[in-house]
Amino acid sequence: MRYSSHQFPRRNWGRRRRSGFSLRWIPVLLFAGYFAFYYFGHQETVPITGRSQLVDIDRQQEMALGLQSWAEIERQSRLVRSGHNLDVLRDVGRRIAEAAAEEDPGFDWEFNLIDADQINAFALPGGKVAFYTGILPIAQNADGVAAIMGHEIAHAIARHGAERMAYQKLVQFGSMAASVALGDMDFGTRRAVMGAMGAGGQYGILLPFSRKHESEADYIGLIYMARACFDPREAPKLWQRMQEAGSGNVAEFSSTHPSPETRIRNFEQWMPEALKVREQYCGASGNEAPSTANTNRPDAPVPDLPAQEEVSGPGYF
Ligand SMILES: [Zn+2]
Repeated sequence: MRYSSHQFPRRNWGRRRRSGFSLRWIPVLLFAGYFAFYYFGHQETVPITGRSQLVDIDRQQEMALGLQSWAEIERQSRLVRSGHNLDVLRDVGRRIAEAAAEEDPGFDWEFNLIDADQINAFALPGGKVAFYTGILPIAQNADGVAAIMGHEIAHAIARHGAERMAYQKLVQFGSMAASVALGDMDFGTRRAVMGAMGAGGQYGILLPFSRKHESEADYIGLIYMARACFDPREAPKLWQRMQEAGSGNVAEFSSTHPSPETRIRNFEQWMPEALKVREQYCGASGNEAPSTANTNRPDAPVPDLPAQEEVSGPGYF
């Protein structure tokens, strides 16, 4: 059924407008304006993928934050000071960092092994990288270590931490604006609306955003490990092992990370490109290398990693 405009009594519009549009929308409008100004004023480009991102601190601040976090972590952790696993980690780390040199803003890379059961690893802006010994049984071999290393170094180079901080700031500011706008509602309604908005921000913005970062780090990391002449075909196998270790049981939508199935599917899609990159950087033999060995570097050390049954708990990286 169609309505023509004369069916709507005009006087009602006027009345509704007087009582409906109140000053409380001003913070929302101000926020929208500020958001647009802020968003478009702080765009950077992620290397390799070319994605536009919002980052509102400079590299120096970011590196200072990274170093500060590391100082804290180092104080609370037990570092492995020597041994074969540390040697492998440093060798793989150095090769991946060299492969990332084109995009490296001048980080001072350092590769650490923390003695703890967590199945996890991280890289901080500035270049501090750490693996927990708990992830080594999942990494299983130098190519597996390279897949994790590539992913972590990609996070740091793609400035994912700084980008997440910028978005958290905006979401926080947005809910402050909304809270002022809802000021004259009764407490129960207001709490319900704010709760829904908080969940919306979390599930609708921050979590999918975090999963996007993970996929981007998977992709860039795969390219890095291929450039460094590791076997990119180990990456989906690594995720298979991660899943078997029981860390894939969190529903994807409520998780900061994509499900292992999604990651494995992505890797398969990117594999032809990664193999081409490897051939380009490492010669034709790259394609023929067996996927389980240390690729075309016979001198690469084989890590003496503990057996996989020793996996002690779920985790993500
Ligand atoms: Zn990650």
